[in-house]
Formats: sequence, structure tokens, C-alpha cells
Amino acid sequence: MAYDYNGAVAVVTGGSSGVGLAAVRLLLESGARVAFCARNEGRLNDVTQVLARDFGEQNVMSMALSVLDEVHVDGFADAVRDRWNRCDLLVNNAGQGRISTFADTTNDDWRAEYELKLFSQILPTRAFLPMLRVSKGAIVAVNSLLAYQPEPHMVCTSSARAGVQNLLKSLSVEFAPEVRVNSVLLGLIGSGQWSRRFAEREDQSVSREEWYGELARKKGIPLGRLGDAQEAAHAIAFLGSKSASYITGAQLEVSGGLARHI
Ligand code: NDP
Repeated sequence: MAYDYNGAVAVVTGGSSGVGLAAVRLLLESGARVAFCARNEGRLNDVTQVLARDFGEQNVMSMALSVLDEVHVDGFADAVRDRWNRCDLLVNNAGQGRISTFADTTNDDWRAEYELKLFSQILPTRAFLPMLRVSKGAIVAVNSLLAYQPEPHMVCTSSARAGVQNLLKSLSVEFAPEVRVNSVLLGLIGSGQWSRRFAEREDQSVSREEWYGELARKKGIPLGRLGDAQEAAHAIAFLGSKSASYITGAQLEVSGGLARHI
């Protein structure tokens, strides 16, 4: 067992795919009971069934909802309280990036992106904070390297992500000493978003390995490949664990060396 989550309850938003799902699995393997959410009910139920089979029904719960729906997010927190009456770790992971330059980003796009990036942190944090305070727990936000290293072709995602890092720093001070708040900054992780872009590639004869390898070369990733969802999950599980008990207000890059800032 890599991390000791025995007796703990973890909540993961966006837990039905990619980094979120890898985090759910790793936390279950580490002894936690885990509640997770996502919007697509069919995929959520499929994943829940597999996890209940592998880790026991008593250790897994899920709820279909959008993290942007305050009433549903509050209902999710109530359900976790009713079932397990505690929350030791909240992983704010749900979301996706938006590819657009300033020229092709409308005002509505800007509003939608800022709402997604900020409120996917704000609403679950507010809903689970009372339980996190009682358990002296932790929040781990899944954010992107774009917060510090903006890309012009992802202009609104980059700027909203910078705002999220700023918010998290404030929260780490306001919630101390009870609740620690940290983040992981992802570079390119070969999960849902990149699988979708791979599926839509121009030359369908190119294999996944070749496409990901070329992408890593183009992006100049020193480790020469995209990261795995499991590698991101390890950073999340570490920051949420007691092993990170003196770490708050910090960010951990999981980017294969892509980060250029010091
Ligand atoms: P995936 O697309 O594989 O998974 C995203 C998960 O979030 C799914 O479970 C999805 O389920 C859920 N989700 C999305 N929007 C919402 C919502 N509004 N409410 C509830 N659940 C939602 O993505 P990744 O694993 O690749 O990404 C995880 C996080 O890391 C995201 O926030 C992403 O932006 C960020 N990130 C990823 C990078 C990468 O290279 N992969 C790079 C930088 C950041 P459903 O669609 O059913 O709701």
C-alpha cells in the first residue's frame, strides 16, 4: 500500500475517467472509502460497478451531477455525510480544457470557461469544507501547467487556471491550520482529453504510440512521452495523505519536465 488512507473518506470530482478515475482507484487501493461524481450517468454506473466488484460495495459511492450545479453538489455532500459522516480528502478534478485563441473566443466562451474553472473549485470546496474541517483533512486541486506557462491557443483556459492557483493560495491560508490546500499542475497526461484528440487525428493510420511520441517531441517534453493518469494520481494521493502533513499552499508539477519556469 503506497499511502495510508485506512479509515479515511475521499471525494473525487470527475472520477469516471482519466486522472480522476486513476485517483479513485489508487485511493481505494490505499484503504480509503471513495465517493465520486461525473455528469454522464451511464459511464459513471459502469465504472462504479467495476470498482464495487474490485473493492467492495461498502467502500464505493457515486452520484451523477455537474460540479457547476450548486444544489446537486450540496446534495452530494449531504449523501456522503449521511453514508459515512466524514470527508478527509476532496480532490477537485472535474473539468476539461478549451482550445481557442483570443480571436476565436467569444464573450460567452470566456464566461463559460471562467465558470467551469473557478466554480468547479468553489462549489465542492464550500460543500465539503465543514466535514474537512472536522477531520483536519486536505483539498487537492487538479490544475494545469498552463496556469504558469500560458499557451496562446488555449488563451482562456490558461488565464482561468492562473486565477485558480491564486484562489488556492488564499484558501490555503484561510483554511489553515485545519485543512491543507494543494494542487497538482499537469502537463500532458494521456487520458480522456488526449484520447479524444487522438481519435480525431488527421491521419487515422498513425498509431497511438507514434501520435503521442510525436506530440511529446513537438512540445519538447524532456522525458519524451506523455504522462499516465496513474502518475498524476500518485501526486494527488501523496498531497492528500498524512505524508504531506506539513505541505499546504503548494503545487506539484507532473509534466515530464515540460515546466520551464523556476
Ligand atoms: P477526462 O476527460 O478523462 O476526465 C474528466 C472527468 O471529469 C470525467 O469523469 C468527466 O465526466 C468529468 N467532468 C467533466 N466536467 C464535469 C462537470 N462539469 N461536472 C462533473 N464532472 C465533470 O479528463 P482528464 O483526466 O484528462 O483531466 C482531469 C482534469 O485534469 C481536468 O480538470 C482537466 O482539465 C485537467 N487537465 C488535464 C490535462 C491532460 O493532459 N489530461 C492537462 C491539464 C489539466 P463527465 O464528462 O461524465 O462529466
